Amino acid sequence: MRTKFIAGNWKMNTNKASAIELAKGVVKGTPSSGVDVGIAPPFVYLDAVNQAIAGSNVLLGAQDCCAEKNGAFTGACSLEMLKDLGVKFCLTGHSERRHFFMEPSDLVAKKAAAVYASGLMLIHCVGEKIEERDAGKTFAVVQAQLGELNPAATQDAQRLVIAYEPVWAIGTGRNATDAQAQEVHAFIRDFLGKRWNKNFADQVRIQYGGSMKPENAKGLLTQSDVDGGLIGGASLKTDSFLAIVNAAK
Ligand code: PEP
Repeated sequence: MRTKFIAGNWKMNTNKASAIELAKGVVKGTPSSGVDVGIAPPFVYLDAVNQAIAGSNVLLGAQDCCAEKNGAFTGACSLEMLKDLGVKFCLTGHSERRHFFMEPSDLVAKKAAAVYASGLMLIHCVGEKIEERDAGKTFAVVQAQLGELNPAATQDAQRLVIAYEPVWAIGTGRNATDAQAQEVHAFIRDFLGKRWNKNFADQVRIQYGGSMKPENAKGLLTQSDVDGGLIGGASLKTDSFLAIVNAAK
């Protein structure tokens, strides 16, 4: 049985006070068991949010990282620094990193390898643009992005999460249908089974991300290969985020 995992990606939102308030609200409403919950605030509020969630079962996440260990990398933040602040999981390959910050596939692969090697849980994001879907390239794009992971160096299935996030659904209010999500999630699990093995693939959690909200969460989360959600906009309000958490439970 895969425990559902709901993670909030706050992106570049909140201020210190609202981040603390939101984090405390999430802690208050998170069930003690039955669902895993995480929040990924902006880097600069990680410490404050870590203190706000202290003693709870809410996991702290980072939205990005630098693959290098230390040194002359102006503006960057290493995984050791993130771990120092209580971070338990880190995203790689988010579409905003790939497309707004022009992160190429080899850099995403390097970051994913570094997160995994650091001992943190990795949420590796994959997903096609609308023109790629329209051209029938969804599976090819997703497969290439999954190819950024090295099976030999990624052996603990509990520390690997894949987030399927169709780019056309992120922040647009237009979510994938239950069937569209399930189709790609099943493809991802099948691919993991071929690259690793079936036992490994059966344990990996595959989150859906892209305009998930309380109204559509139940339909998406009851698909057999949808094991949680990566939530952007709806994670910025305690009520909507917790409604999704409860739908997952
Ligand atoms: C995201 O950015 O990971 C995301 C899923 O955003 P939203 O829920 O706002 O579409």
